Amino acid sequence: MSEEDIRNYLSRQSSGTPSPKRVAVRPTGPAPRRRMPAKPPEAETFKKFSASHLLCPRCKQAMPVRERLLLFLPDGDLYDYICTTCGTSVGTKKADR
Ligand SMILES: [Zn+2]
Repeated sequence: MSEEDIRNYLSRQSSGTPSPKRVAVRPTGPAPRRRMPAKPPEAETFKKFSASHLLCPRCKQAMPVRERLLLFLPDGDLYDYICTTCGTSVGTKKADR
């Protein structure tokens, strides 16, 4: 490109029909916000693992259990935890008195 060409190019730009100042270009502002991915509800899941859910060896998952008083001991009561679904004993707990 020679200097003349450049001058011609510039003069063509400045003269002639003035281009509208506003150009219909989408503003390059912040891109539309992406939706934040919902947090995996792990915390919620953990909260639900209360003492009333224990891993049942037969159901192979944490199952709701019910407490059954097994023994009165001198230093506390012994409770048996039973899976409410299959009735398997999933553990015992000694409640101190
Ligand atoms: Zn079970």
